[in-house]
Amino acid sequence: MKVLAAVKRVVDYNVNVRVKADQSGVDIGNVKMSMNPFDEIAVEAAVRLKEQGAAADVVAVSCGTASSQETLRTALAIGADRGVLVQTDAALQPLAVAKLLRAVVQQEQPALVILGKQAIDDDACQTGQMLAALLGWPQATNASAIAIDGGMARVTREVDGGLEVLELALPAIVTADLRLNEPRYVTLPNIMKAKKKPLDILTPEALGVDPGSRLETLRVEEPAARAPGVKVADVAALIDKLKNEAKVI
Ligand code: AMP
Repeated sequence: MKVLAAVKRVVDYNVNVRVKADQSGVDIGNVKMSMNPFDEIAVEAAVRLKEQGAAADVVAVSCGTASSQETLRTALAIGADRGVLVQTDAALQPLAVAKLLRAVVQQEQPALVILGKQAIDDDACQTGQMLAALLGWPQATNASAIAIDGGMARVTREVDGGLEVLELALPAIVTADLRLNEPRYVTLPNIMKAKKKPLDILTPEALGVDPGSRLETLRVEEPAARAPGVKVADVAALIDKLKNEAKVI
């Protein structure tokens, strides 16, 4: 069974992003970029399925600029066998990514595609769902456990009231939640080995996909600055403020 893991290059989660002066977006010049954290979890899940003998081949796929090769090399260092980059300088929105991934899925014919539940830059939480809809495949989002059993995937999801277990007929789409696993530490020997693993480069044109945007960003703003806190003298003053100023009790 082949497993595809989708990986996006995003601003590292430790970076404090700044809005561009013209409010057209976030300034990503000269900031550290990394693999989207939920995608690391997706790759780790795919590699663990291979280690358990449930998967034979793990392919990491990224859509984006040439720099996404670096992100794919990280996926190869975690343990993916092969990388596929759909290279484009276009600003990709979830629907465009889902269409590109559908074209790669049609070429690669995986039994399972694992994506992150969300990309931490756009927080869209849409790509996996759109890919499932485009392919007409079953989907399980926000997975906290995945088990493969014959032609089925059993996926556990954390929902408000507890745990929900879904059984999906393969091929299927799964999106990874935080508690699915803890990705392994990437070692230097594995980084060196990853340099020699195959990485194919495709283009949206070759896949017959128009990666153009459907949505226009009107403006990006910094959140309002938080008002400074105050110290109250005693409980009575606190109650008074909660009642009369904050009006929460
Ligand atoms: P989003 O819908 O943008 O929140 O992204 C959800 C997931 O879709 C991510 O965690 C990735 O697994 C996948 N994804 C989004 N954008 C890309 C991309 N440009 N290349 C590869 N995978 C992506």
